[in-house]
Amino acid sequence: MSPIRALCWSERTEPLSVYPDGIDGAVADALKEIGVEVKTAKMDDPEHGLSEEVLAETDVLFWWSHIRNGDLSEDVNARVVKHVLARGMGFVPIHSALFAKPFQTILGCTGNIGGWDHNQAPENVYVIDQNHPIAEGLGAKFVLPETEMYVEPFDVPPPDELIFISSFSRGEVFRSGMTWYRGRGRIFYFRPGHETYKVLFEEPCRKVFQNAARWGASRA
Ligand code: ZN
Repeated sequence: MSPIRALCWSERTEPLSVYPDGIDGAVADALKEIGVEVKTAKMDDPEHGLSEEVLAETDVLFWWSHIRNGDLSEDVNARVVKHVLARGMGFVPIHSALFAKPFQTILGCTGNIGGWDHNQAPENVYVIDQNHPIAEGLGAKFVLPETEMYVEPFDVPPPDELIFISSFSRGEVFRSGMTWYRGRGRIFYFRPGHETYKVLFEEPCRKVFQNAARWGASRA
């Protein structure tokens, strides 16, 4: 079978002292480990690095954005959405990408959350759906030592699959891994991360990215 083709995209406002190759580079590194054919792209590339030609050769798109969501052109947003819904490109928004235009457009939601705190406290990620391909190899729970807290309510439509729920130091909870099937596409939202913590280098996060690449590309 031909290799999975992933595109890892970032708005590139993350500090290079924490993510030397960007968050796109951190995800790409995890995917290369399992033989995924990986490209990276960023907000300031021509057409945001999301030309028709590039998207046409992408099976699954990983996306990190935070403060520059408004800079994404409506044309490019529409193109990404089309590739997800009409062609079946997988879409994996990470952490603060809950405000990414394609995520809001595809799901018809704001992505608003109840609150957040840069408390550096550990995050307990409970694996609710242990039989899901995205949960493969993760066991019943994993702990991320240093993360930002998010708390419910999270304004998204009811998920088709709820895979992870996180709890935080003061009892806050958040649905940290959810899927939706829309059109021909598969969408997986993954909560952990934050641009000033090295959380996306943690082994369980790398495993989730690898599993999500297979699932998002409809190979699992
Ligand atoms: Zn954050």
